[in-house]
Amino acid sequence: MTGVLHHLARIVHTVALAEQPIDQVNLVVESISTTMAADVCSLYLANSRGEMLLLASHGLAGAAVRKVRIPPGKGLVGLVAASRHPVNLADAESHPAYFYIAETEEERFHSFCGVPLVHTGKVIGVLVVQGREVRQFSEEEQGFLVTLAAHLALLLANSPLASDQPEADEGRVSGIRGAPGIGIGYSRLCDHGELYAVANAPCHDTAAALHDWHALLAVVRSEIEQEQQAVAGELSESVAGIFSAYTMLLADSTFLDHVEQGILSGNWLPGALRQAIQHFAELFRAMDDPYLQARQEDIHHIGNKLYNAWRGIRPESMRTDRRIILLGAQVSVSDIAAVPTGILMGIVCFEGSALSHTAVLANALGVPAVMGTGSIRNLVNDCLLIVDGNSGQVVLNPAAPVLAEYRKLEDDQRLLLQQLEQIREFPAVTTDGTEITLYTNTGLLADISPGLRNGAQGVGLYRTEIPFMIRNSFPSEEEQVAVYRQVLAAYAGRPVHMRTLDIGGDKQLPYFPLGNEENPALGWRGIRFTLDNSQLLMTQVRAMIRASEGLDNLRILLPMVSSTGEIDEFRELLADAMRQLQAEGLRLKRPELGVMVEVPAAISQIPFWSGKIDFISIGSNDLSQYLLALDRNNPRVAARYDHVHPAVLLEVRRILELAGAHGLPVSLCGEMASDPVAVVLLLGLGLRTLSMSATKIPQIKWLIRSLPLASAQQLALDALACVYPAEIRSRVEAALANAEMQEIFSLTPPLQKTPGSAPTA
Ligand code: PEP
Ligand code: MG
Repeated sequence: MTGVLHHLARIVHTVALAEQPIDQVNLVVESISTTMAADVCSLYLANSRGEMLLLASHGLAGAAVRKVRIPPGKGLVGLVAASRHPVNLADAESHPAYFYIAETEEERFHSFCGVPLVHTGKVIGVLVVQGREVRQFSEEEQGFLVTLAAHLALLLANSPLASDQPEADEGRVSGIRGAPGIGIGYSRLCDHGELYAVANAPCHDTAAALHDWHALLAVVRSEIEQEQQAVAGELSESVAGIFSAYTMLLADSTFLDHVEQGILSGNWLPGALRQAIQHFAELFRAMDDPYLQARQEDIHHIGNKLYNAWRGIRPESMRTDRRIILLGAQVSVSDIAAVPTGILMGIVCFEGSALSHTAVLANALGVPAVMGTGSIRNLVNDCLLIVDGNSGQVVLNPAAPVLAEYRKLEDDQRLLLQQLEQIREFPAVTTDGTEITLYTNTGLLADISPGLRNGAQGVGLYRTEIPFMIRNSFPSEEEQVAVYRQVLAAYAGRPVHMRTLDIGGDKQLPYFPLGNEENPALGWRGIRFTLDNSQLLMTQVRAMIRASEGLDNLRILLPMVSSTGEIDEFRELLADAMRQLQAEGLRLKRPELGVMVEVPAAISQIPFWSGKIDFISIGSNDLSQYLLALDRNNPRVAARYDHVHPAVLLEVRRILELAGAHGLPVSLCGEMASDPVAVVLLLGLGLRTLSMSATKIPQIKWLIRSLPLASAQQLALDALACVYPAEIRSRVEAALANAEMQEIFSLTPPLQKTPGSAPTA
């Protein structure tokens, strides 16, 4: 075998071209057996029971594929998995571990070389080649397989095949938690047509096509209006803003121009539409921010909606009194709107994430949802289903005892949600009388009101980069004033902590690429970028201050500060902005100034900041990322990232001690503030102000109102003596379970970012 690297590159490249995971694995086994001139190449993947499922084979009997399951540790495949080591034999049959499976008809093969597929330390599969001759595979061949297996492990770890998704008739399918709760009902499949399958074709009458395009826009606009009205009674203004996002796209001149240009350059309407939708979906897909990335689904939805309208297919409202579970590759906002109120029990999306608008809407409507299940085969309408949004599972055709158990759970949760509803207006006070301030994190105008509805006492973090990200160029001072004013006015009388632009690292502006930095997380981001572009910072600071005139509830927050000089530079710019605006005749109050403590170096500098700043906000997402040297967005290390790591807790304690000694109030606005375990520990360590996504406030308030501070303090003390994050978690979870508060875990919605809705900023 020559040119191993060349073969490897060719196989990896070919596989990457196949769209479906099953096609990828079939291609892999076929290419390997051809390349190695092996009679057989098979790929086994581990299922949740540790069995090795024969997923694909080139050379073994076709009937065996997807049927053969080798029990854990059994046979040569089991030996490879258990030893995590290649097994290379000239005559497999003479090995004591050999295990014969009739369906494979493999008695014809003697040589055997199996290598493990390992991902994040776990064996996820075994790749095997076999041959008729009695001969050992060469070192080079074995090395080739080992290298290929490392590539395959990466490819398959994230594919639905690797998670051993059972088929519809097998009962359970796992996905991502989209919206909490248990829903029981009958399946209703959503089919959106396939705009992406539309090919380009010549346009014979450009004027007529342009006319059709405008008519189509009018039809779809009115459909959206009707859908919005259908759900309006149940949605907050902000979530109904999801529909405004669609309307905005339909009015967006860049989008409209794109389609028109397509038609004018000779493409027929559906082809021009497909090109424009693909272009915009791709723009969003390429964004690093997961929230904005998830917006590509909205673009697909609107594209399919336009295409269906062009085909003359109109949305039908569903006339049924059956309880319904909506399922589909994507379940659109329009599908949801078509279901009469009160009968939508659950949503299952084969694609999508917890940040999809479908999940946002499901959360707002209180409908349990499971996202990203991968396609579920053999599904038809009217199957009985259970959607378990708490664990991210879907149960198909449940047996009677399972159904009874879930019905009981459904009832228990309804009761608990009623309790949460009742405490919305109550303060967050521990059972022994300590009051905690709860703020909301936001970044879109569309998520202003959920915070208010859920009793937020202010905005703890307004991420200004989001209004910057959804534009095509830097917003002007006037545009920024208008956006900021709406937030400040909505929270009049309550503080709003506006953070100066925090781009760089994982947050990029589509119209101002920062170039390829080798270490973007350690590079030109946050305050470093804005101080270097002080013209942008000056415009932003002026806009913030102008927007707060007469409201005086603005507090400015600086991201990524690592040295005191950065605060000094900003203070000069702030003083300058104040002078300019006063000279322009504005009556202004100097806003309070705070620093995000999110770079470890900032901690030891806190003593130098009294007199320079007014408060501190702990950015626990970045602080954990930098303390643990774990990229918060890298799925390969995600399992190692836990903000209740003892190192993080110790630093939080140090921040509280130093800030306390220097008269600086401290709050925390990272994801720790919405993780029940972390909240218990933070309160125990002494934090009294937390800022989180609006949807998390009721649950966290419920936790605080059920908790004696003294227990939190004891748990924090114990945690600081622990070595392992898992140990810390299980202690706090056990304490909450003892206090009969375990429901907090099932009720915390899984949204990782400010959930928001439409990008209406
Ligand atoms: C943080 O780092 O904890 C934080 C709140 O900021 P962001 O997630 O926007 O970086
Ligand atoms: Mg941060």
